[in-house]
Amino acid sequence: MEEENELMMRVTGLKKYYGEVHAVDGISFAIPRASVFTILGPNGAGKTTTLEILEGIRGPDAGEIEVFGMKLKKVTRAVKERMGVLLQDGNFEPYLKVKEVVKLFASFFKKALPVEEVLTRVALQEKTNAYVKTLSGGQLQRLAVGVALVNDPELIFLDEPTTGLDPQARRNMWSIITDLKDQGKTIILTTHYMEEAEALSDRVCIMDYGTIIAKGSPRELTSRLGQETIIEFNTSSLSADDLAQLESYGKTAREDGEIVTVETENLVHTMEQMLAWSREREIPLTNMTVRQPNLEDVFLLLTGRRLRE
Ligand code: ATP
Repeated sequence: MEEENELMMRVTGLKKYYGEVHAVDGISFAIPRASVFTILGPNGAGKTTTLEILEGIRGPDAGEIEVFGMKLKKVTRAVKERMGVLLQDGNFEPYLKVKEVVKLFASFFKKALPVEEVLTRVALQEKTNAYVKTLSGGQLQRLAVGVALVNDPELIFLDEPTTGLDPQARRNMWSIITDLKDQGKTIILTTHYMEEAEALSDRVCIMDYGTIIAKGSPRELTSRLGQETIIEFNTSSLSADDLAQLESYGKTAREDGEIVTVETENLVHTMEQMLAWSREREIPLTNMTVRQPNLEDVFLLLTGRRLRE
């Protein structure tokens, strides 16, 4: 139990400004060992800048980083040896074999895992002798994660590891990340997919305009919405009066593009009123769904915006 509570990283007052842009504006958080810590936020929130500072690619303007029990102003080469970083565009040489790519990256480190072990961790054993150019998008991304694991790092940075992957490939990546955590690795993940943050994270910090606007476990964060249930449906357009009427049935009602979202603490009552409203005004409740609040709703509650514009 003691070990579980051990901290892998503590970040205090981290800042990075690019002229007028406060890319990272004084953020602080702590990451327990053997956990998945996720930074969730829209484009431009400062996620990549934060990761690049923690990976030692950029120096911060202010703040302190404590990692592997050491307090640092900047991440040094010796510290980097113990970290694994997913490269943003893996761009591996297409005429190399998978095992050759892993060997090449392993040669950069003093200590490296055997190729077979790396490929097993990312479920690519069967592709050991395949050429890079024959891999699918999901397999390429798994190879990129494998490359991040060659030095058997304790701390692994995954910056948007599933962006652009199809749902099946995304699920495969999720199970690799979960396995890494089960092996005792600490993972720092960024994503703008709230489903991913919910599925994988022990702790999430929601970032917006360089600051952390909320942090906690997915459950702690969604419990901010209390006992609410969310009702959603699609429509092409509502009048201001339609929307105002809808709002009177629940706690809030919001129209965002073609999606209408109603929050209620009394599902049955609100639904009855909505059905009558739909009949009277001849507004179909297309694709109506009823669900519990998720991290997207938390973001919406805090910012008035959706994660994905
Ligand atoms: P995305 O999901 O789009 O990658 P992000 O949350 O990772 O977004 P960052 O890439 O960290 O966000 O960018 C944060 C802010 O800092 C943005 O406004 C961005 O334009 C700005 N920024 C990032 N790098 C630089 C740079 N080298 N010079 C100037 N501004 C920068």
